Amino acid sequence: MTQQRRDQLAANLAAVHRRIAGAALPGATPTLVVVTKFFPASDADLLAELGVRHIGENKDQEASAKVAELTHRDLLTVHFIGRLQSNKAHSVARYADVVQSVDRPKLIGALSRGAVERGRDLEVLIQVSLDGDTSRGGALPQDVARLGDLVAEAPGLALRGVMAIAPLEAEPEPAFALLRTVSDRVSADHPQAWWISAGMSGDLEAALAQGATHLRVGTAILGSRESHG
Ligand SMILES: *Cc1c(COP(=O)(O)O)cnc(C)c1O
Repeated sequence: MTQQRRDQLAANLAAVHRRIAGAALPGATPTLVVVTKFFPASDADLLAELGVRHIGENKDQEASAKVAELTHRDLLTVHFIGRLQSNKAHSVARYADVVQSVDRPKLIGALSRGAVERGRDLEVLIQVSLDGDTSRGGALPQDVARLGDLVAEAPGLALRGVMAIAPLEAEPEPAFALLRTVSDRVSADHPQAWWISAGMSGDLEAALAQGATHLRVGTAILGSRESHG
């Protein structure tokens, strides 16, 4: 069973690496964050054995339990990529290495306190809403610079860049092009904040064409979440 799962994950991972190699801009070496939500810690451990170094989770309760269960915790950088409630921010700061979904000032204080308590910097991306509908998470593009400044000033937090999810009902490329202009502004003020997290199983080529530095891929590697569990 484990061997079969390992082979399946290895094949899927190789296919995604081929897609990335085929679409990455010349000279770019994008970071693959494998989104393990809905799947067990044993899958994340198999992925670590297959060379994966970044995993992504989107729910605090699931993520905190799973990270505690990992055999290969030391090999993995854990990215929190989901909508974050301010009462969960402190918990997330206990186990996450990166939080990609900061979209309002209230989260910054809580994450900062959590990071200071644990004594290690937490890397932070500002999530950007690319269709003006902030109900799905993300700050409006015009609010991102100010949020970036707040993160950069907060003790224990290290601003690394921006993140976005492509709009549901639109072409991804223009949306990712907008993200790139937001990124240019943030990194002009904060040179270390150059990460652009964009691109999932269905649109990673479009994201890479617009300069994505980090991809968040779930289904294409782990399989469908509907058929699982
Ligand atoms: C689930 C999720 C992903 C991965 O999506 P797939 O389509 O399964 O690759 C990426 N980003 C975020 C924020 C997610 O919640």
